[in-house]
Amino acid sequence: MHSPPMSMPYRPHVLKAPRPTRLLLEVVAIVLVVVTSGVGVATALAGAVLGPDEVILPILDELPDGTIVSSTCGNPIVYDDGRPFGPVDVVLDPGHGGPESGSVGANGLTERDLNLMVAFHTQLALEDLGYTVALTRRRDTHMPIRQRAAIANALTPLAFVSIHHNGGATRRSDTPGTETFHQVDDPESTRLAGILFEEIQSAFSPYWVPWVRTVHQGVSTRLREPRAETYGILRMTPDLTSVITEGLYLSNPPEAQLLALPQIQELEGRVIAAGIHRFLTTQDPGSGFKPEFFDPHTTGTGTARGCVDSEITPPAGISTGFTAKEHEDLVATARQLGKSTDWLLRFGVHTLEFLSELPGAAAITPLAAADRPDAYGPVAETVAWNQAEQAVLVRMADAYGITRTQVQKLGAVLMVFLAGLEDQPVTQNDPAATQDDATAVPDDAD
Ligand SMILES: [Zn+2]
Repeated sequence: MHSPPMSMPYRPHVLKAPRPTRLLLEVVAIVLVVVTSGVGVATALAGAVLGPDEVILPILDELPDGTIVSSTCGNPIVYDDGRPFGPVDVVLDPGHGGPESGSVGANGLTERDLNLMVAFHTQLALEDLGYTVALTRRRDTHMPIRQRAAIANALTPLAFVSIHHNGGATRRSDTPGTETFHQVDDPESTRLAGILFEEIQSAFSPYWVPWVRTVHQGVSTRLREPRAETYGILRMTPDLTSVITEGLYLSNPPEAQLLALPQIQELEGRVIAAGIHRFLTTQDPGSGFKPEFFDPHTTGTGTARGCVDSEITPPAGISTGFTAKEHEDLVATARQLGKSTDWLLRFGVHTLEFLSELPGAAAITPLAAADRPDAYGPVAETVAWNQAEQAVLVRMADAYGITRTQVQKLGAVLMVFLAGLEDQPVTQNDPAATQDDATAVPDDAD
């Protein structure tokens, strides 16, 4: 069937579309699934805001049409109601949360809950010393590691400590099997890890408990390849002084019993705070250092897989106007692809982003006034954009220097354009053709 592209009120070169084929559309569809399932950016450069329930949301972009933050699950979302937050002196990361329990004691104590209690005590003790402190999570929240790192990076603390309790060891030990991990080739991270090891181990040593340990008891760095830490918390915060503490072995029943005591949780929180304070106020070197070791294996947790964001920004309905002819083309294209017009409008905007991110793609520049699409025709289509898709819409609007309504129109025109070109027999099955179809003249139409 033939559905001629709707007339474009601007020069087609702005589309910069490569050879449009069904294959391209399918590739876009695959990438779109990947993008919307949470493989996003982890770096935040512009500080953070507080969202509902005191959740810390690193700012990714502040744009005219909305502020884009990194959600709890690490996805770019639009959120405009945040209160500015940070920087802080210390960020604490209570490891695990939500469906990721971490190690579990024989008494039912889970690492995710224990880590949070210890982190609360650490915060209180640090605040008593006059420090400002933030926790990556204050609830039983599912949060991927890259979001924890993004929060820490956004708050630019003097120290970032991820609090954990270990599982697995069975070798008997006369001393607590405390382990701390530091960043590779980083003297300050190493010093903080050495001090925290001293503080935690000496706090627990007086207790008469049949401890367990592994060969990693002490202070070390675990590498997946030369100069790259296995632990994302350390690897993804290269500008910070970051350390992981594994206080005791929760998997060892006597240690789980000890860790279930509120005064022990408070003790551990207090000594972690004391260690951070000592790091920040002295040049103590710490002790317990072991050589770095290679072990790329992790538990496989801490990814964004299965993480579901709560909706903190209501969907925004964006209307775009079409002429009767344009709308006819839109409907015909949707039918040709077996999709709804709503899908086509959405997909068009994602395709704009996709094309702009292809290797070698020219950077999008703001459209000149004459190139901006007329998006105010008599036949209106309204699309409801959720907080994650809104982020794409807002970013594209900013990149092209146009409104969200106009981006929707631009995407729609692109889709009709691509589907229409696919119907032209002159460009089909012609592997020798390498010219840019967006600027191609059909000179071989005979
Ligand atoms: Zn853990």
